[in-house]
Amino acid sequence: MERDGSGRGASIIGPPECAAAQACQGKVYAPDYVPALPLPDCGLGDCGCRYEPARK
Ligand SMILES: [Zn+2]
Repeated sequence: MERDGSGRGASIIGPPECAAAQACQGKVYAPDYVPALPLPDCGLGDCGCRYEPARK
């Protein structure tokens, strides 16, 4: 496992109408804990949720 201390991970970005994505907004998930997409709570079907790699 790679642990360089950089804190890299991913956030989830989604449109305002996706409550599931909004609930995730601002959270950064460690690589091993990034939720699968689409999010279980996403009821929009094709809402456009996506991963945003953490940048630092
Ligand atoms: Zn969604």
